[in-house]
Amino acid sequence: MNLVWFRNDLRLDDHPALYHACQHGGAVTAVYCVTPEQWQAHDESPAKLGFRQAALNDLARRLAEKGIALELLKAGSYQQLPEQLGAFCQQRNITNLWFNRDIPWDEQQRDNAVVAYLQSCQIVCHEQAADLIYPSPLNNKQGLPFKVFTPWYRAWLQCVQQLHRFTVPEPTAAAAPRPEPDALQLPGSSDYRADLWPAHEAEALARLHHFLVNGRRAYNSQRDIPSMPGTSTLSPYLASGLLSPRRCLQMIQQSAAAEGWEWQEDAWLRELGWREFYRYLMAAFPRLSRNQPFKAQTRHLQWEVNPHHLQAWQQGHTGFPLVDAGMRQLARTGWMHNRLRMLTASFLCKLLLIDWREGEAFFMQHLLDGDFPSNNGGWQWSASTGCDASPWFRIFNPTRQSERFDPEGHFIRKLVPELASLDSRQIHNPPQKVREALGYPAPVIDYRGARERVLQRFRELNETESNVS
Ligand SMILES: Cc1cc2nc3c(=O)[nH]c(=O)nc-3n(C[C@H](O)[C@H](O)[C@H](O)COP(=O)(O)OP(=O)(O)OC[C@H]3O[C@@H](n4cnc5c(N)ncnc54)[C@H](O)[C@@H]3O)c2cc1C
Repeated sequence: MNLVWFRNDLRLDDHPALYHACQHGGAVTAVYCVTPEQWQAHDESPAKLGFRQAALNDLARRLAEKGIALELLKAGSYQQLPEQLGAFCQQRNITNLWFNRDIPWDEQQRDNAVVAYLQSCQIVCHEQAADLIYPSPLNNKQGLPFKVFTPWYRAWLQCVQQLHRFTVPEPTAAAAPRPEPDALQLPGSSDYRADLWPAHEAEALARLHHFLVNGRRAYNSQRDIPSMPGTSTLSPYLASGLLSPRRCLQMIQQSAAAEGWEWQEDAWLRELGWREFYRYLMAAFPRLSRNQPFKAQTRHLQWEVNPHHLQAWQQGHTGFPLVDAGMRQLARTGWMHNRLRMLTASFLCKLLLIDWREGEAFFMQHLLDGDFPSNNGGWQWSASTGCDASPWFRIFNPTRQSERFDPEGHFIRKLVPELASLDSRQIHNPPQKVREALGYPAPVIDYRGARERVLQRFRELNETESNVS
């Protein structure tokens, strides 16, 4: 009897563990482990759990059509999993366990412990790779991990070029269809914006197809404008694995061949490359999974502790309209446009000088697409503590960003309705009297002073560093 262990890969398409279990011979059953203590420790958001619950129910229905039952195993934390999964397997006479590998540290430890325990129970464990387009480690000419994105990306593209038949199809039925399964429930889940992100694998594939046909060409010119639907909005599907990144690559290559362009030059593939680069870094540098900065010297950066500023940022009441619009988009939808993730993150850890880990946790607690490697990478990039991060002296001016990326104020008007009556000149930085009349807060900081403060902190850090070395 084969058991497929579903995790961040809630799909039938390009699911090597499921595919090979079905090919292996013998009956197939499936499990999803419910670990609420772990989810809490990892700041998984209630909305993301809601999305996941809906995705699991869709998956359970589709697996049942293929004669495969999907059961929930309630385990608490990862520590309890080996024994509980062992007991689960023994009760069902499981001889083979199949799963797709995860990258972050806790998940690697979990998998190592489960494999060691199950092997001691004579169960054969089969690990597959599915979350990365190119799963093998990649080193530079010195045999060391890359630390800069562009040379890594060049090397990665060359490896990717060699890949042939790298996806697997949805498996055929393993047995006669099973009855419609009962609804599965995940503890800690809440409602989420199912109107914006229906949690079905078919939706993910349709969105991918739609983006490649209709959105790809304008991606470069529109991807930075939050008021436009310029990006794919596929991140919730990729984060919970309703969509395979390898399927994305395969469909990019297919479009390129049909339309006569070079898939290697695709700007959208480069963004999938960032997703992959942050996973690569996490595998190569385990400290990234342990709440530590990539650049060791930035551990000594002196952060401000200011609950009033932190709360203003979290609630979208900083008095900087585009920053507030971004934070309110997150609260309303569970998603935030990439340009605004960069702006709000830079605002928190540069201008408010609040530790990036506060922002990292808050994003995870609210994002529908919360993805540990990408979120950690994005925060460390913004705080200049990360690998190939934004330089320490790069500080976004929130008013300039607003004038540049929301020139007419369309996005601000939608998300910050107090300012909806203002014209495109005033909306980026309303005069004090206008703010008072509209009930919109004064800026929580003076931009110039805050900029000087953070530059000074980084200069001091660099001086201490050069004195030490
Ligand atoms: C501070 C900060 C936090 C972030 N947190 C997350 C997170 O928790 N989860 C998440 O998926 N992305 C995160 N990102 C990256 C990026 O903002 C989102 O992936 C993107 O906005 C999702 O929208 P989309 O699917 O329309 O992207 P598209 O532009 O259509 O890109 C396609 C896919 O490529 C990947 N991608 C795009 N940009 C990046 C990037 N900079 N880094 C890593 N992967 C990328 C995503 O999987 C995305 O779905 C973060 C960025 C920053 C600056």
